[in-house]
Amino acid sequence: MRKPNFFDSLISLAAPKGRQDFVIKALATNAFAAFWFLMLEISLHGGDSFNALHLVLGILLISIPLSCFGLAAIGYLSGLRRELAHLAATDLLTGLKNRRAFLAAAQTTTAQKRGVLMMIDLDHFKKINDTYGHAVGDECLRAMADVLREQVRETDVLGRLGGEEFGILLVDAPLDAAIQIGERICAGAELSLANVERVVKITASVGAAEMPEKDDFESALTLADMAMYQAKADGRARVVFWEKGVTARI
Ligand code: GH3
Ligand code: MG
Ligand code: MG
Repeated sequence: MRKPNFFDSLISLAAPKGRQDFVIKALATNAFAAFWFLMLEISLHGGDSFNALHLVLGILLISIPLSCFGLAAIGYLSGLRRELAHLAATDLLTGLKNRRAFLAAAQTTTAQKRGVLMMIDLDHFKKINDTYGHAVGDECLRAMADVLREQVRETDVLGRLGGEEFGILLVDAPLDAAIQIGERICAGAELSLANVERVVKITASVGAAEMPEKDDFESALTLADMAMYQAKADGRARVVFWEKGVTARI
């Protein structure tokens, strides 16, 4: 994602953050304009023939509408930018961070903190699509995203990496807590299909890797991925903790 430049910072600073902020900024802009009208008035006519009416009229006619329009336009543009940035970072099906946003956030976080990285891949997902159709598959992905949301804290990083794969960075999580979370995730989700009176059960294979060193994100990513494939090879619906060689079954 593009890094904000000077003009981005300027626009977000100038953009009104609410009604009160709008009034304060409009008044500040007008006070600034009034000062320059005053300077102009003095330089044109000299201090003796200063005309207060000119100053008031100047502010009313030019400065107030212009500053209101300018601030409203800046606020609108800045809202659009925020919305675009949110869309570019969000997976539309689940509302989670998309791959790029997940990796960026996890990398930034692990530069400062330790964590446990989890790669999560739903089991036999193709079969769910083939049996019940893609719409049900999508429902399952949303249900699984809700399960994952329940397992993480505000400070953790969660995202959909693509397809039926998700990633979690548990920030500063103790090993036993991470294993418990992994086991709950493996158990997956159940989805009731009213029209066929059936319950679809989804499970997940989870590969986890602890990051002993700060800023060791890349190697943790590789280890977690290898651990996830090990979980598949071991029979699915389980978590394999690569770093400690722990395999917990549900
Ligand atoms: P495994 O247990 O080995 O992971 O088997 P799998 O069937 O889950 O893995 P595979 O890679 O064979 O299939 C993944 C399937 O996920 C295939 C693809 O159609 C489906 N899929 C990927 N993205 C989406 C999506 O957005 N919606 C739906 N409904 N299905 C998706
Ligand atoms: Mg997969
Ligand atoms: Mg899969």
